[in-house]
Amino acid sequence: VLLRAVLLCAVAASAAAAQSRLVVAPAKADPGAVVRLMVQGWARRDSVRSVAGEMAGEPLHFVHADSGRWLAIGGVPVEAAKSVTARAYVTLINGRVDTVRARIEVPPYVPPKVEPLTVDTGFTKLDSAGVARVASDNAKAREIGRRSHDTPRLWFEPFIKPRSSVMTSMFGTGRSFNTDVRSRHNGTDFRGKVGDTVFASNRGVVALTTDFLLAGTVLYVDHGAGVVTGYFHLSKALVAAGDTVSRGQAIALVGASGRVTGSHLHWAARYGALTVNGMDLVALDPRWVRP
Ligand SMILES: [Zn+2]
Repeated sequence: VLLRAVLLCAVAASAAAAQSRLVVAPAKADPGAVVRLMVQGWARRDSVRSVAGEMAGEPLHFVHADSGRWLAIGGVPVEAAKSVTARAYVTLINGRVDTVRARIEVPPYVPPKVEPLTVDTGFTKLDSAGVARVASDNAKAREIGRRSHDTPRLWFEPFIKPRSSVMTSMFGTGRSFNTDVRSRHNGTDFRGKVGDTVFASNRGVVALTTDFLLAGTVLYVDHGAGVVTGYFHLSKALVAAGDTVSRGQAIALVGASGRVTGSHLHWAARYGALTVNGMDLVALDPRWVRP
């Protein structure tokens, strides 16, 4: 009887493990997209002890949903070409670890349109000190993203736009800065006058407020589980590093600081060290918001 029970357990465990699947949506995603990942497929909801994962060099934070599925989000690097692979490591109750993979197709980058530089300066002529300063600013921003993986998830409601005003430039838009320099717009621009209010996109902890060379006065909010939002070209921050902010709280005032020709809010988002499209967070499927 004991032997039979052991055999049955072994069969049940292997059957459960064999069904493990990692599903990614969308299966074809633009550079900078936020994708939804789901690990599922066990006969029994309690077959799995934990799920970890990795995509594009960033850890994935799987959460156990009521349905017995495990859900996470991941970021497609803006420089991704052809495809990105996501992996999940499923630890079963019996101690076995299964690895499941999914591939996300990344179509060739085609900028929606090329905008002459009018509102937002990513590039102007920089001397070597300027180049070094920008590298240092970028490193600080990436570090905030990396540290966010160690912050518990603080968001359980949908992300909201930081302003309700017109969006004047979307993520991924092509930019021509002069005849031979081109870049992609790695954020979303919102119309605003100096002094207009900027709202926190979701609950989080203020990670940094400081002055960057190109982005001017910046404020970063760490929402935890790898997600960070950034607010650029501000005239004033209304909160300080370490403050917990609620979703929709007034956190800053629109400005024209940094290398800009006019006031507006540039809104950035990160998944870990990766720059991602914040509007994908706003549009996130509710099941991934409240697993
Ligand atoms: Zn911008």
